[in-house]
Amino acid sequence: SAAFSSPAIPQPITSPEVPYTGVFINNEFHKAESGRQFPTVNPTTGEVITMVEEGDKNDVEKAVKAARAAFQLNSEWRQMDGSERGRLINRLADLMERDQTYLASLETVDNGKPYSNSYMVDVRQSINNLRYFAGWADKIHGLTIPTDGPYFAYTRHEPIGVCGQIIPWNFPLLMQAWKFGPALATGNTIVMKLAEQTPLTGLYVAKLVAEAGFPAGVVNVIPGYGPSAGAAISSHMDVDKVAFTGSTEIGHLIQQAAGSSNLKRVTLELGGKSPNIVFKDADLEYAVEQSHFGIFFNQGQCCCAGSRIFVEESVYDEFVERSVERAKVRTVGDPFDMKTEQGPQVDGEQMNKILDLIDSGKKEGAKMCYGGSRVGEKGYFIEPTVFADVKDHMRFAQEEIFGPVQQIFKFKNVNEVIERANKTQYGLAASVFTKDLDKANLFSQGLRAGTVWVNCYDVLNAQTPFGGYKFSGQGRENSEYALRNYYEVKSVITKLPVKNS
Ligand code: NAD
Repeated sequence: SAAFSSPAIPQPITSPEVPYTGVFINNEFHKAESGRQFPTVNPTTGEVITMVEEGDKNDVEKAVKAARAAFQLNSEWRQMDGSERGRLINRLADLMERDQTYLASLETVDNGKPYSNSYMVDVRQSINNLRYFAGWADKIHGLTIPTDGPYFAYTRHEPIGVCGQIIPWNFPLLMQAWKFGPALATGNTIVMKLAEQTPLTGLYVAKLVAEAGFPAGVVNVIPGYGPSAGAAISSHMDVDKVAFTGSTEIGHLIQQAAGSSNLKRVTLELGGKSPNIVFKDADLEYAVEQSHFGIFFNQGQCCCAGSRIFVEESVYDEFVERSVERAKVRTVGDPFDMKTEQGPQVDGEQMNKILDLIDSGKKEGAKMCYGGSRVGEKGYFIEPTVFADVKDHMRFAQEEIFGPVQQIFKFKNVNEVIERANKTQYGLAASVFTKDLDKANLFSQGLRAGTVWVNCYDVLNAQTPFGGYKFSGQGRENSEYALRNYYEVKSVITKLPVKNS
């Protein structure tokens, strides 16, 4: 957290202007076809920031037509060199960097996350991510294959076409960048639906897309609700692929909608209940701090949050005690204050869901050591909360809480803890803290999760893949692997007059 309060962070704009609230199609902002608007709320105050155009099925229809037109054979976008696509993506990253103070401020107003985090993590990582994928744009190539018979064969990695992208509210800018980068690097066109809780930064970035010089229709961005605008994308007959990040519950619906419409390609990044395992031979002070960060970062609203902390029996009491001490000094409050570590939850619905799960934990007999209540009456703040003596069968030990609630479990030995760690429908991330190399390797192999962190937590970068086993999703974002979700492989086989080696 020392890095977050570094003087390198410029002063925020605490009341940023919000010039862009429309439906972005063909590089222009439009009114919603229905004439309806919806409010977006500042979770710090509970007050409406502004009204936003409410895109739905008809706006999706317009956006898909625009994206399809931009993808036509011989269009400007289809004829563009990969290197030029890369330059455009880099230009978008440059414009985000130019406006980074504004973007970080707007993210904090709309989402509630501390400005220091918005600036150092959300905006910075979004820019890094776009630049990483810009570099791939002219390196998307297939194979030449010696095939049986007098033929010459090669593969083309072609863009899939019109890609629907549906993103959540916990990292609005970053989830947008994670989805834009690989889709654009590989030459697709995009219809993105923003989360209804946090539409503002995504719309500002849409304006930067036009400013960067992307051809009209390549990127279309729709603010609106899930069951209307979101479902219109996932069930659309002319959307070739859908990428979704959000709850496992909605992930099922997306997959079903794809299956019962045009079998569009589906990638999903869903929930988690990630185990974080601490052995007695770990550096305990460091493990306590990392575990605190792993669960409380972003108000606990991380799909990969380390929400099941398993601690070896002999250091259990000390770990709990130190975790409580750490939680007590966690600074909760005004997200524009540079010293703030924790802002409000994103909205009242999430706050109430979290408070309800805290309640269920108490009722089922877990020991609440600290916190547990709402903070104040304005905004949606919750105290950093620590539970000990959590048992695997408890409801709140299995469901994703998505809030600032640390749950600490006790374990006795290696085999027992591997089995318990894996005994979940989820498989997004996992971690192990130990100085014993053999244990670290055993867990790196044994944990059924898309990411295993050893002696660290929440290390996420553009270069390393991220995604889930089991109910946590399918496909990978970030890294070279993300590209695979955005191209079709075509075999081209040509008759030769005669074949020679
Ligand atoms: P959600 O899954 O409902 O929303 C995610 C996105 O999907 C939003 O853009 C939403 O509008 C859209 N959506 C909703 N219904 C849809 C539908 N029928 N068809 C198409 N799109 C639809 O998540 P939420 O309600 O914002 O949060 C609920 C829970 O989901 C949270 O408590 C948390 O457990 C989990 N969650 C996980 C992540 C993650 O990154 N994995 C992110 C946000 C929320």
